[in-house]
Amino acid sequence: MKPLGEAQAVVLDTVSPLPVVSVPLGECLGLALAEAVVAGHDLPPFANSAVDGYAVRVGDVVAVPVELHVVGNVAAGSVPLTAVTPGSAVKVMTGALLPDGAEAVVRVEDTETADGVVRILVSVPSGLAIRPAGGDVPAGTEVMAAGERLAAAHLGVLASLGVSAPRVRRRPVVALLSTGDELVPVETVDLSGGLIRDANRSTLAALITDAGAVVVDHGIVGDDPQRLRRVLDEAAGSADVIVSSGGVSMGDHDVVKEMLIDLGTVDFWQVAMQPAKPLGFGSVDGVPFFGLPGNPVSVYVAFEQFVRPALLTMLGAAAVFRPRVRGVLDDGASTDPAKTVFLRTVAAPDPTGAWHARSAGGQASNVLSAMAAANAFAVIPVGCSDVAAGAAVDLELFTVPSTRTRREVLGG
Ligand code: AMP
Ligand code: MG
Repeated sequence: MKPLGEAQAVVLDTVSPLPVVSVPLGECLGLALAEAVVAGHDLPPFANSAVDGYAVRVGDVVAVPVELHVVGNVAAGSVPLTAVTPGSAVKVMTGALLPDGAEAVVRVEDTETADGVVRILVSVPSGLAIRPAGGDVPAGTEVMAAGERLAAAHLGVLASLGVSAPRVRRRPVVALLSTGDELVPVETVDLSGGLIRDANRSTLAALITDAGAVVVDHGIVGDDPQRLRRVLDEAAGSADVIVSSGGVSMGDHDVVKEMLIDLGTVDFWQVAMQPAKPLGFGSVDGVPFFGLPGNPVSVYVAFEQFVRPALLTMLGAAAVFRPRVRGVLDDGASTDPAKTVFLRTVAAPDPTGAWHARSAGGQASNVLSAMAAANAFAVIPVGCSDVAAGAAVDLELFTVPSTRTRREVLGG
Protein backbone atom coordinates (compact mmCIF):
# COMPACT_ATOMS: atom_id res chain seq x y z
CA MET A 1 0.00 0.00 0.00
CA LYS A 2 1.56 3.28 -1.11
CA PRO A 3 1.14 6.34 1.09
CA LEU A 4 -1.16 8.84 -0.62
CA GLY A 5 1.45 11.57 -1.09
CA GLU A 6 3.99 9.15 -2.56
CA ALA A 7 1.43 7.77 -4.98
CA GLN A 8 0.41 11.27 -6.05
CA ALA A 9 4.06 12.19 -6.61
CA VAL A 10 4.52 9.13 -8.85
CA VAL A 11 1.57 10.21 -10.98
CA LEU A 12 2.58 13.85 -11.22
CA ASP A 13 6.19 12.88 -12.08
CA THR A 14 4.87 10.76 -14.93
CA VAL A 15 2.71 13.31 -16.70
CA SER A 16 3.91 16.55 -18.23
CA PRO A 17 2.37 19.59 -19.91
CA LEU A 18 1.05 18.97 -23.43
CA PRO A 19 2.22 20.95 -26.49
CA VAL A 20 1.53 24.67 -26.71
CA VAL A 21 -1.08 25.81 -29.23
CA SER A 22 -3.05 28.98 -29.97
CA VAL A 23 -6.72 28.43 -29.23
CA PRO A 24 -9.55 30.83 -30.15
CA LEU A 25 -10.73 32.66 -27.04
CA GLY A 26 -14.21 31.17 -27.25
CA GLU A 27 -12.74 27.68 -26.76
CA CYS A 28 -10.36 28.58 -23.93
CA LEU A 29 -12.56 28.17 -20.87
CA GLY A 30 -10.73 25.92 -18.40
CA LEU A 31 -7.42 25.91 -20.32
CA ALA A 32 -4.24 27.26 -18.74
CA LEU A 33 -2.00 29.95 -20.22
CA ALA A 34 1.29 28.59 -21.53
CA GLU A 35 2.90 32.03 -21.45
CA ALA A 36 2.36 35.15 -19.38
CA VAL A 37 0.15 37.75 -21.01
CA VAL A 38 1.57 41.28 -21.09
CA ALA A 39 -0.80 44.16 -21.87
CA GLY A 40 0.05 45.50 -25.34
CA HIS A 41 -1.74 48.76 -24.56
CA ASP A 42 -3.42 50.61 -21.72
CA LEU A 43 -6.76 49.40 -20.44
CA PRO A 44 -8.91 51.42 -20.75
CA PRO A 45 -7.12 52.45 -23.96
CA PHE A 46 -8.14 56.11 -23.49
CA ALA A 47 -9.45 58.33 -20.69
CA ASN A 48 -13.23 58.21 -20.65
CA SER A 49 -16.24 59.12 -18.59
CA ALA A 50 -17.35 56.80 -15.79
CA VAL A 51 -20.88 58.23 -15.80
CA ASP A 52 -23.50 59.90 -17.95
CA GLY A 53 -23.02 63.58 -17.18
CA TYR A 54 -21.32 66.83 -18.02
CA ALA A 55 -17.60 67.30 -18.53
CA VAL A 56 -16.54 70.53 -16.80
CA ARG A 57 -13.53 72.53 -15.67
CA VAL A 58 -13.33 72.32 -11.88
CA GLY A 59 -12.71 76.05 -11.54
CA ASP A 60 -16.18 76.66 -12.99
CA VAL A 61 -17.96 74.64 -10.33
CA VAL A 62 -16.35 75.92 -7.14
CA ALA A 63 -19.40 78.03 -6.27
CA VAL A 64 -22.63 76.17 -6.98
CA PRO A 65 -25.24 76.15 -8.29
CA VAL A 66 -23.79 77.55 -11.49
CA GLU A 67 -25.04 77.60 -15.09
CA LEU A 68 -22.76 76.49 -17.93
CA HIS A 69 -23.36 76.51 -21.69
CA VAL A 70 -23.63 73.06 -23.19
CA VAL A 71 -21.34 73.19 -26.23
CA GLY A 72 -21.30 69.54 -27.28
CA ASN A 73 -22.51 65.99 -26.73
CA VAL A 74 -20.27 62.90 -26.95
CA ALA A 75 -21.60 59.35 -27.19
CA ALA A 76 -19.49 56.27 -26.34
CA GLY A 77 -17.61 55.34 -29.50
CA SER A 78 -17.60 58.81 -31.05
CA VAL A 79 -15.01 61.58 -31.14
CA PRO A 80 -15.54 64.87 -29.24
CA LEU A 81 -15.80 67.83 -31.61
CA THR A 82 -15.74 70.61 -29.04
CA ALA A 83 -13.49 71.33 -26.08
CA VAL A 84 -14.59 72.34 -22.60
CA THR A 85 -13.74 76.03 -22.34
CA PRO A 86 -14.29 78.26 -19.28
CA GLY A 87 -18.00 78.71 -18.68
CA SER A 88 -19.01 75.73 -20.81
CA ALA A 89 -19.73 72.02 -20.39
CA VAL A 90 -19.88 69.07 -22.79
CA LYS A 91 -22.47 66.37 -22.27
CA VAL A 92 -20.76 62.94 -22.17
CA MET A 93 -22.10 59.40 -21.94
CA THR A 94 -20.52 56.58 -19.95
CA GLY A 95 -17.46 55.30 -21.83
CA ALA A 96 -17.22 58.37 -24.08
CA LEU A 97 -13.85 59.87 -24.96
CA LEU A 98 -13.30 63.04 -22.91
CA PRO A 99 -13.19 66.36 -24.74
CA ASP A 100 -10.09 68.53 -24.42
CA GLY A 101 -10.22 70.67 -21.31
CA ALA A 102 -12.42 68.26 -19.33
CA GLU A 103 -11.21 68.07 -15.74
CA ALA A 104 -14.09 66.19 -14.12
CA VAL A 105 -17.54 64.87 -14.97
CA VAL A 106 -20.65 65.86 -13.03
CA ARG A 107 -23.25 63.11 -13.16
CA VAL A 108 -26.63 63.91 -14.71
CA GLU A 109 -28.33 63.39 -11.35
CA ASP A 110 -26.43 66.39 -9.96
CA THR A 111 -27.60 68.75 -12.72
CA GLU A 112 -30.69 70.36 -14.17
CA THR A 113 -30.96 71.27 -17.84
CA ALA A 114 -32.87 73.89 -19.75
CA ASP A 115 -32.38 75.21 -23.28
CA GLY A 116 -28.71 74.70 -24.04
CA VAL A 117 -27.73 75.45 -20.47
CA VAL A 118 -26.88 73.06 -17.65
CA ARG A 119 -27.25 74.02 -14.01
CA ILE A 120 -24.53 72.28 -12.00
CA LEU A 121 -25.69 71.64 -8.44
CA VAL A 122 -22.53 70.21 -6.89
CA SER A 123 -18.89 71.08 -6.70
CA VAL A 124 -16.51 68.32 -7.88
CA PRO A 125 -12.78 67.67 -7.47
CA SER A 126 -10.43 67.25 -10.42
CA GLY A 127 -10.59 63.76 -11.92
CA LEU A 128 -14.01 62.88 -10.53
CA ALA A 129 -15.82 60.29 -12.66
CA ILE A 130 -12.93 60.14 -15.13
CA ARG A 131 -11.47 56.69 -15.86
CA PRO A 132 -7.87 57.37 -16.80
CA ALA A 133 -6.10 55.51 -19.62
CA GLY A 134 -4.38 52.47 -18.08
CA GLY A 135 -6.35 52.82 -14.85
CA ASP A 136 -7.35 49.16 -15.06
CA VAL A 137 -4.17 47.74 -16.67
CA PRO A 138 -1.22 49.94 -17.69
CA ALA A 139 0.49 49.00 -20.99
CA GLY A 140 3.39 46.62 -20.43
CA THR A 141 2.02 45.07 -17.23
CA GLU A 142 1.85 41.30 -16.85
CA VAL A 143 -1.88 40.74 -16.43
CA MET A 144 -1.81 36.97 -16.17
CA ALA A 145 0.97 34.56 -15.36
CA ALA A 146 1.79 31.36 -17.22
CA GLY A 147 -0.18 28.54 -15.65
CA GLU A 148 -3.24 30.67 -14.92
CA ARG A 149 -6.42 28.69 -15.63
CA LEU A 150 -8.81 30.73 -17.70
CA ALA A 151 -12.20 31.48 -16.17
CA ALA A 152 -14.90 33.82 -17.45
CA ALA A 153 -13.34 37.08 -16.24
CA HIS A 154 -9.92 36.12 -17.63
CA LEU A 155 -11.51 35.67 -21.05
CA GLY A 156 -12.97 39.17 -20.76
CA VAL A 157 -9.58 40.70 -19.93
CA LEU A 158 -7.92 38.87 -22.83
CA ALA A 159 -10.68 40.02 -25.18
CA SER A 160 -10.22 43.64 -24.03
CA LEU A 161 -6.51 43.39 -24.80
CA GLY A 162 -7.13 41.90 -28.24
CA VAL A 163 -5.67 38.51 -27.34
CA SER A 164 -7.99 36.55 -29.63
CA ALA A 165 -6.12 33.23 -29.50
CA PRO A 166 -3.99 32.88 -26.37
CA ARG A 167 -1.08 30.48 -26.16
CA VAL A 168 -2.29 27.55 -24.08
CA ARG A 169 -1.69 23.81 -23.82
CA ARG A 170 -4.02 21.64 -25.81
CA ARG A 171 -6.72 19.73 -23.97
CA PRO A 172 -5.80 16.21 -22.83
CA VAL A 173 -7.82 13.49 -24.55
CA VAL A 174 -9.04 10.94 -22.03
CA ALA A 175 -10.19 7.46 -23.04
CA LEU A 176 -12.90 6.36 -20.62
CA LEU A 177 -14.22 2.84 -20.03
CA SER A 178 -16.16 0.85 -17.47
CA THR A 179 -15.39 -2.75 -16.59
CA GLY A 180 -17.89 -5.09 -14.98
CA ASP A 181 -20.19 -7.76 -16.45
CA GLU A 182 -22.95 -6.52 -14.15
CA LEU A 183 -23.09 -3.12 -15.86
CA VAL A 184 -25.83 -2.07 -18.25
CA PRO A 185 -26.48 1.26 -20.01
CA VAL A 186 -28.39 4.00 -18.20
CA GLU A 187 -31.50 3.43 -20.35
CA THR A 188 -31.91 -0.17 -19.16
CA VAL A 189 -35.19 -0.78 -17.35
CA ASP A 190 -34.97 -4.46 -16.34
CA LEU A 191 -32.23 -5.04 -13.78
CA SER A 192 -33.15 -8.63 -13.00
CA GLY A 193 -30.24 -11.01 -12.70
CA GLY A 194 -28.02 -8.75 -10.60
CA LEU A 195 -27.49 -5.98 -13.11
CA ILE A 196 -26.79 -2.34 -12.24
CA ARG A 197 -26.66 0.77 -14.38
CA ASP A 198 -23.22 2.14 -15.14
CA ALA A 199 -22.92 5.15 -12.81
CA ASN A 200 -19.18 5.71 -13.08
CA ARG A 201 -18.97 6.75 -16.71
CA SER A 202 -21.51 9.52 -16.18
CA THR A 203 -19.64 10.82 -13.14
CA LEU A 204 -16.22 10.51 -14.74
CA ALA A 205 -17.18 12.09 -18.05
CA ALA A 206 -18.41 15.14 -16.15
CA LEU A 207 -15.31 15.30 -13.94
CA ILE A 208 -13.00 14.95 -16.93
CA THR A 209 -14.76 17.71 -18.86
CA ASP A 210 -14.74 19.97 -15.81
CA ALA A 211 -10.98 19.40 -15.50
CA GLY A 212 -10.55 20.86 -19.00
CA ALA A 213 -10.03 17.57 -20.84
CA VAL A 214 -11.90 15.84 -23.66
CA VAL A 215 -13.64 12.49 -23.17
CA VAL A 216 -13.51 9.64 -25.67
CA ASP A 217 -16.11 7.20 -24.42
CA HIS A 218 -15.26 3.52 -24.91
CA GLY A 219 -18.41 2.42 -23.11
CA ILE A 220 -18.98 -0.67 -20.98
CA VAL A 221 -16.27 -3.20 -21.65
CA GLY A 222 -17.39 -5.94 -19.24
CA ASP A 223 -14.90 -8.33 -17.68
CA ASP A 224 -13.75 -10.17 -20.79
CA PRO A 225 -9.94 -9.98 -21.01
CA GLN A 226 -9.87 -10.15 -24.83
CA ARG A 227 -12.31 -7.30 -25.22
CA LEU A 228 -10.49 -5.27 -22.58
CA ARG A 229 -7.21 -5.80 -24.42
CA ARG A 230 -8.70 -4.58 -27.70
CA VAL A 231 -10.16 -1.46 -26.09
CA LEU A 232 -6.93 -0.64 -24.22
CA ASP A 233 -4.93 -1.07 -27.43
CA GLU A 234 -7.25 1.25 -29.28
CA ALA A 235 -7.31 3.77 -26.44
CA ALA A 236 -3.53 3.81 -26.16
CA GLY A 237 -3.33 4.67 -29.85
CA SER A 238 -5.47 7.77 -29.64
CA ALA A 239 -5.62 9.14 -26.08
CA ASP A 240 -3.28 11.04 -23.74
CA VAL A 241 -4.67 9.27 -20.69
CA ILE A 242 -6.76 6.15 -20.09
CA VAL A 243 -9.24 5.97 -17.22
CA SER A 244 -11.11 2.79 -16.33
CA SER A 245 -13.27 1.89 -13.36
CA GLY A 246 -13.68 -1.46 -11.63
CA GLY A 247 -11.72 -4.66 -11.84
CA VAL A 248 -8.73 -3.64 -9.75
CA SER A 249 -9.37 -5.38 -6.43
CA MET A 250 -9.25 -8.99 -5.29
CA GLY A 251 -12.26 -10.55 -7.04
CA ASP A 252 -12.19 -13.47 -9.48
CA HIS A 253 -13.07 -11.20 -12.38
CA ASP A 254 -10.80 -8.28 -11.62
CA VAL A 255 -9.20 -8.38 -15.04
CA VAL A 256 -7.74 -4.91 -15.28
CA LYS A 257 -4.76 -5.63 -13.10
CA GLU A 258 -3.69 -8.73 -15.05
CA MET A 259 -4.21 -7.02 -18.36
CA LEU A 260 -2.01 -4.14 -17.37
CA ILE A 261 0.75 -6.40 -16.09
CA ASP A 262 0.58 -8.14 -19.48
CA LEU A 263 0.18 -5.14 -21.72
CA GLY A 264 1.94 -2.28 -19.98
CA THR A 265 3.68 -1.19 -16.84
CA VAL A 266 2.39 -0.91 -13.29
CA ASP A 267 3.56 1.72 -10.81
CA PHE A 268 1.21 0.92 -7.93
CA TRP A 269 -1.95 -1.02 -7.18
CA GLN A 270 -2.95 0.07 -3.74
CA VAL A 271 -2.95 3.42 -2.02
CA ALA A 272 -3.23 3.96 1.74
CA MET A 273 -6.46 5.89 1.45
CA GLN A 274 -10.12 5.38 2.14
CA PRO A 275 -12.14 5.14 0.04
CA ALA A 276 -10.25 4.08 -3.12
CA LYS A 277 -7.59 1.82 -1.66
CA PRO A 278 -7.53 -0.42 -4.74
CA LEU A 279 -6.27 2.08 -7.27
CA GLY A 280 -3.92 1.17 -10.04
CA PHE A 281 -1.61 3.43 -11.97
CA GLY A 282 0.68 2.49 -14.80
CA SER A 283 0.85 2.82 -18.55
CA VAL A 284 -0.25 1.14 -21.76
CA ASP A 285 2.08 1.81 -24.71
CA GLY A 286 3.46 4.77 -22.80
CA VAL A 287 0.00 6.26 -22.18
CA PRO A 288 -0.70 6.89 -18.48
CA PHE A 289 -3.39 4.54 -17.22
CA PHE A 290 -5.60 5.05 -14.16
CA GLY A 291 -7.35 1.89 -12.98
CA LEU A 292 -9.89 3.42 -10.64
CA PRO A 293 -11.86 1.23 -8.24
CA GLY A 294 -15.41 0.18 -9.08
CA ASN A 295 -17.31 1.64 -6.18
CA PRO A 296 -18.76 4.97 -7.28
CA VAL A 297 -17.61 7.03 -4.29
CA SER A 298 -14.11 5.58 -4.58
CA VAL A 299 -14.16 6.61 -8.24
CA TYR A 300 -14.96 10.21 -7.32
CA VAL A 301 -12.36 10.44 -4.57
CA ALA A 302 -9.68 8.75 -6.69
CA PHE A 303 -10.39 11.09 -9.58
CA GLU A 304 -10.10 14.13 -7.34
CA GLN A 305 -6.85 13.00 -5.75
CA PHE A 306 -5.10 11.57 -8.82
CA VAL A 307 -6.68 12.10 -12.21
CA ARG A 308 -7.66 15.75 -11.83
CA PRO A 309 -4.21 16.89 -10.64
CA ALA A 310 -2.70 14.89 -13.52
CA LEU A 311 -4.99 16.47 -16.12
CA LEU A 312 -4.34 19.96 -14.74
CA THR A 313 -0.60 19.25 -14.90
CA MET A 314 -1.01 18.28 -18.55
CA LEU A 315 -2.88 21.53 -19.13
CA GLY A 316 0.10 23.36 -17.62
CA ALA A 317 -1.91 24.77 -14.71
CA ALA A 318 0.22 26.28 -11.94
CA ALA A 319 -2.05 24.98 -9.17
CA VAL A 320 -3.45 21.48 -9.47
CA PHE A 321 -4.94 20.68 -6.06
CA ARG A 322 -8.24 21.88 -4.61
CA PRO A 323 -8.24 24.48 -1.85
CA ARG A 324 -8.38 23.41 1.79
CA VAL A 325 -9.65 25.31 4.81
CA ARG A 326 -9.39 24.47 8.46
CA GLY A 327 -12.77 23.77 10.03
CA VAL A 328 -14.66 21.99 12.77
CA LEU A 329 -16.06 18.50 12.22
CA ASP A 330 -19.35 18.78 14.06
CA ASP A 331 -19.99 15.04 14.17
CA GLY A 332 -17.12 12.78 15.17
CA ALA A 333 -15.81 9.84 13.16
CA SER A 334 -13.67 6.79 13.74
CA THR A 335 -11.30 6.12 10.90
CA ASP A 336 -8.57 3.68 9.89
CA PRO A 337 -5.25 5.04 11.21
CA ALA A 338 -3.35 3.30 8.39
CA LYS A 339 -5.03 5.43 5.72
CA THR A 340 -5.73 9.00 4.71
CA VAL A 341 -9.49 9.12 4.98
CA PHE A 342 -11.75 11.35 2.91
CA LEU A 343 -15.09 11.80 4.68
CA ARG A 344 -17.87 13.18 2.52
CA THR A 345 -19.21 16.24 4.28
CA VAL A 346 -21.40 19.28 3.88
CA ALA A 347 -19.27 22.25 4.85
CA ALA A 348 -20.07 25.94 5.25
CA PRO A 349 -18.82 28.90 7.27
CA ASP A 350 -20.95 29.96 10.26
CA PRO A 351 -21.88 33.64 10.81
CA THR A 352 -18.50 34.29 12.47
CA GLY A 353 -16.68 32.92 9.42
CA ALA A 354 -15.56 29.67 11.08
CA TRP A 355 -15.97 26.62 8.83
CA HIS A 356 -18.07 23.69 10.03
CA ALA A 357 -18.62 20.34 8.39
CA ARG A 358 -21.00 17.48 9.05
CA SER A 359 -21.32 14.07 7.48
CA ALA A 360 -23.15 14.16 4.15
CA GLY A 361 -24.61 10.70 4.78
CA GLY A 362 -23.49 7.08 4.73
CA GLN A 363 -19.72 6.79 4.47
CA ALA A 364 -19.56 3.43 2.70
CA SER A 365 -17.89 3.60 -0.71
CA ASN A 366 -21.04 2.69 -2.62
CA VAL A 367 -23.19 5.48 -1.14
CA LEU A 368 -23.14 7.83 -4.09
CA SER A 369 -26.09 9.84 -2.75
CA ALA A 370 -23.89 11.13 0.11
CA MET A 371 -21.22 12.02 -2.45
CA ALA A 372 -23.82 14.06 -4.33
CA ALA A 373 -24.89 15.81 -1.12
CA ALA A 374 -21.31 16.66 -0.15
CA ASN A 375 -19.28 19.72 -1.09
CA ALA A 376 -16.12 18.99 0.89
CA PHE A 377 -13.91 16.15 2.02
CA ALA A 378 -12.90 16.16 5.66
CA VAL A 379 -9.35 14.84 5.30
CA ILE A 380 -8.31 12.68 8.24
CA PRO A 381 -4.56 12.00 8.16
CA VAL A 382 -2.76 8.71 8.69
CA GLY A 383 -2.24 7.99 12.38
CA CYS A 384 -5.60 9.33 13.40
CA SER A 385 -8.24 6.82 14.48
CA ASP A 386 -10.83 8.79 16.38
CA VAL A 387 -11.93 12.26 15.47
CA ALA A 388 -13.94 13.72 18.33
CA ALA A 389 -17.04 15.74 17.57
CA GLY A 390 -15.91 19.36 17.42
CA ALA A 391 -12.31 18.55 16.42
CA ALA A 392 -10.49 20.73 13.89
CA VAL A 393 -9.88 19.07 10.51
CA ASP A 394 -8.78 20.00 6.99
CA LEU A 395 -11.71 20.49 4.65
CA GLU A 396 -11.00 20.09 0.95
CA LEU A 397 -13.61 22.04 -1.00
CA PHE A 398 -14.38 20.34 -4.28
CA THR A 399 -17.41 22.23 -5.42
CA VAL A 400 -18.94 25.64 -4.83
CA PRO A 401 -22.62 25.13 -5.50
CA SER A 402 -25.27 27.80 -5.20
CA THR A 403 -26.74 27.06 -1.78
CA ARG A 404 -28.75 30.16 -0.85
CA THR A 405 -32.31 30.07 -2.08
CA ARG A 406 -34.14 33.07 -3.47
CA ARG A 407 -36.31 33.12 -0.36
CA GLU A 408 -33.26 33.13 1.97
CA VAL A 409 -31.63 35.99 0.12
CA LEU A 410 -34.56 38.13 -0.96
CA GLY A 411 -37.25 37.08 1.51
CA GLY A 412 -40.90 36.94 0.52
P1 AMP B 1 -15.09 -4.08 -8.69
O1 AMP B 1 -13.94 -3.32 -8.19
O2 AMP B 1 -15.10 -4.25 -10.16
O3 AMP B 1 -15.25 -5.35 -7.95
O4 AMP B 1 -16.37 -3.20 -8.35
C1 AMP B 1 -16.66 -2.86 -7.01
C2 AMP B 1 -18.11 -2.47 -6.87
O5 AMP B 1 -18.40 -1.34 -7.68
C3 AMP B 1 -19.10 -3.54 -7.30
O6 AMP B 1 -20.21 -3.49 -6.44
C4 AMP B 1 -19.48 -3.11 -8.70
O7 AMP B 1 -20.73 -3.59 -9.09
C5 AMP B 1 -19.50 -1.61 -8.55
N1 AMP B 1 -19.26 -0.96 -9.82
C6 AMP B 1 -18.25 -1.23 -10.68
N2 AMP B 1 -18.31 -0.45 -11.77
C7 AMP B 1 -19.41 0.32 -11.61
C8 AMP B 1 -20.02 1.35 -12.40
N3 AMP B 1 -19.48 1.70 -13.58
N4 AMP B 1 -21.13 1.94 -11.93
C9 AMP B 1 -21.65 1.59 -10.74
N5 AMP B 1 -21.11 0.66 -9.94
C10 AMP B 1 -20.02 0.01 -10.36
MG1 MG C 1 -15.89 -5.53 -11.42
